[in-house]
Amino acid sequence: MNKTHVIKPLLDDDYPVISYGKGIYLYDQDGKRYIDASSGAVTASIGHGVKEIIDAMTDQAQKVAFVYRSQFTSDSTEALAKKLCELSSNHFQWSFFVNSGTEATETAMKTAIQHFQEQGKPTKTKVLSRWMSYHGITIGALSMSGHVGRRKRFSSLLEDYPSVSPPYCYRCPFHQTYPSCNLACAYELETVIKRTGPEHIAGFITEPIVGAAGAALTPPPGYYEVIREICDKYNVLWIADEVMTGVGRTGVMFAYEHWGVKPDIMTLGKGVGAGYTPIAVTLASSKTIEPIMNGSKLIMSGHTLSANPLSSAVGLAVLTYIEKHDLVQEAALKGDYLVEKLKKLQLLYPIIGDIRGKGLLIGLELVQNPKTKEPFSSSENMTARLISKAQKNGLLLYPSQAGTDGVEGDGIIIAPPFTITHRQLDETVDLLSKTLHEVQNEKQR
Ligand code: PLP
Repeated sequence: MNKTHVIKPLLDDDYPVISYGKGIYLYDQDGKRYIDASSGAVTASIGHGVKEIIDAMTDQAQKVAFVYRSQFTSDSTEALAKKLCELSSNHFQWSFFVNSGTEATETAMKTAIQHFQEQGKPTKTKVLSRWMSYHGITIGALSMSGHVGRRKRFSSLLEDYPSVSPPYCYRCPFHQTYPSCNLACAYELETVIKRTGPEHIAGFITEPIVGAAGAALTPPPGYYEVIREICDKYNVLWIADEVMTGVGRTGVMFAYEHWGVKPDIMTLGKGVGAGYTPIAVTLASSKTIEPIMNGSKLIMSGHTLSANPLSSAVGLAVLTYIEKHDLVQEAALKGDYLVEKLKKLQLLYPIIGDIRGKGLLIGLELVQNPKTKEPFSSSENMTARLISKAQKNGLLLYPSQAGTDGVEGDGIIIAPPFTITHRQLDETVDLLSKTLHEVQNEKQR
């Protein structure tokens, strides 16, 4: 393609033009086939071109695609909300539909602030977060994000919310090892709350497993139990940002289930519509909504296309498809298989420093030297180079920051659709091996 009027991630780059998608594969207009091993941006969790979703979309579009949420509700929106609450064993009772993960975290932030405002606590307005996190791209959501690269340009406009260390066992911020560390990273939250003053803090937001800013960084057992305890002690709402991890991605329906404690607010995005339509949602427990219900009854958030019947019908069809085909269980089993294969690859390619994640959200941290864990210098552009070579080889991967302070480190995420077969996983790992071989050879030259 020569002339373009579309602003893409890199203005001057040439992008292949998509033709169609089927299952885990995407095909461009030149007929080249790609394995979608990242489900796009960890989104297309049931694969491309699924007939049941297209049928549900068509049916709903023929009835009505859009209504304004201040004028109507719809059967599909009500049914989707009910289903999501049931999937949380009715821990969550309320759903606020939006169109992107960013809007969902922004709504979570406002809900937390309003929860306290309506109880006469107007100073509780800060939402603490961790370094090495990503919660969205608008100024509010970016304020909560500890993604150094994405904050940099706008830092003067942002609140300094990220202040808690990440649970980064591969490079422990406290230079300790689990379990003798006694979860120092979790207990740091208490220090930060005391320093800031609990009377100023509405919430603490975390990605249960960190995506874009941590290459599937996974806290150790016990971590979220401590977080829950500290949040309760200081009357702070815990917000789980499950935009990437939710809806089966990590081998359970919601990733918080891995730790056995429940957040007060949860955001979902990507996997809800699985890429078929834009839809995301903020879910809240009764306890969270109660003061608002007894007060203004109005959560001051929302968008023109919030809760539109078309996206809701798609969300419902995606959940039905996931349940019908046992895809959450599949994500868990396929994830285990993938990790075993990646561990073998690590023996061949020392560039793979760490393998982490759960289910089909698997991260690789890339290092110069696996013994010293020395990262590549940023001038090497290792993540971008590897991703681009993989795409040339017909393999799509998702880039992630990782490493010291989240600034210099390189990482990739492998997160294929849950429908991937064992044979297709073998094919994925073979293409990754070919790509790593090329990158390693390039380095040795
Ligand atoms: N939160 C998390 C954990 C994410 O991974 C992302 C996107 O990558 C977002 C929020 C923002 O979602 P969106 O890009 O749909 O606005």
